[in-house]
Amino acid sequence: MHLNRRNFAKTLAAASLGALIPTNSFASAPAIIKRSGKLKLSFRTYELQLTHTFTVASYSRNTTPVVLTEIEYEGLIGYGEASMPPYLGESQASVTSFLKKVDLEQFNDPFRLDDILTYVDSVDKNNRAAKACIDIALHDLIGKIVNQPLYKLWGLNPTKAPMTSFTIGIDTPEVVREKTKEASRFEVLKVKLGKGNDKEMINTIREITDVPLYVDVNQGWKDKNKALEMIHWLKEKGIVFVEQPMPKTQIDDMAWLTENSPLPTVADEAFQRLSDVAKFKGVYSGINIKLMKSTGLREAHKMITVAKALDMKVMIGCMTETSCAVSAAAQLSPMVDWADLDGNLLIDNDVYEGMKVVKGKVTLNELPGIGIKKL
Ligand code: MG
Repeated sequence: MHLNRRNFAKTLAAASLGALIPTNSFASAPAIIKRSGKLKLSFRTYELQLTHTFTVASYSRNTTPVVLTEIEYEGLIGYGEASMPPYLGESQASVTSFLKKVDLEQFNDPFRLDDILTYVDSVDKNNRAAKACIDIALHDLIGKIVNQPLYKLWGLNPTKAPMTSFTIGIDTPEVVREKTKEASRFEVLKVKLGKGNDKEMINTIREITDVPLYVDVNQGWKDKNKALEMIHWLKEKGIVFVEQPMPKTQIDDMAWLTENSPLPTVADEAFQRLSDVAKFKGVYSGINIKLMKSTGLREAHKMITVAKALDMKVMIGCMTETSCAVSAAAQLSPMVDWADLDGNLLIDNDVYEGMKVVKGKVTLNELPGIGIKKL
């Protein structure tokens, strides 16, 4: 049989993503392709400069440390990224030390995602961002080999990608007013609360705009009755949902709040990986998946599927990241209810170009893999 480029690509896609794509569409493709190259991982540290000081309930910062990875295979390069906001406990030192322990050269077929990523997960516990930067680069590489964006390989319709929110950090009314005006191209805003000036934050934004608002309290409310009272007030102000209203340890209070809340609640800090999803059914209405928590795209895809089966809402979020990790997360966005994919828009020194926000909406391109180019 003549192996043209189209059949070649289809065969590779079928080999790697067989569970996700009907196999009968590849019935005419050859069954075996021998691959002989090695996977070569390289990485470098990089410091993201934030456009504005970023303040949430517990801290402020002006930079975010990241590690940028590349996986090279037979002349193609997949890009990945680990982002380490300090509260998650990883650092450039911990990520590079993890990556030095990873031996990808033992693998000669990037489509063996199960083998490779199960091995990577076993190298050491935790290190979720470090694992994500390998997962992302590997997915990017696979997309480049078959010359297709990931959302197509997953069978997703890019026009179903949601609006993305843009985040307004906690600040003085003057600064909040300014930031809200700067964010006028977004159709949804996400407002950080939990530092005692909640009503002032919302009222200031409402002076400028009527767009729907997501609220993220970052565990800032400690009393469930006061939290419920505030959620009722927020509902009147056009808030869509409340993310991580209470400390992640107050599980019973959270379950009570979710049961009584007129708005959906979303778990973020409380929640990391696939094994957490079922535990939080009934405690929160939904989950905020981030690649830096989920160890990357493969597990995030599974988490979305499980959460939907449990009738939970799904949000996809990000850290402050370059367009690399943000564009990777965007590939999954047609599957979710809400997106908060603005991490690349909060920095001054991006090194990639990728997913765009057009009229407030996550807009996926036709580039293969995670859909990025180096700047
Ligand atoms: Mg959050």
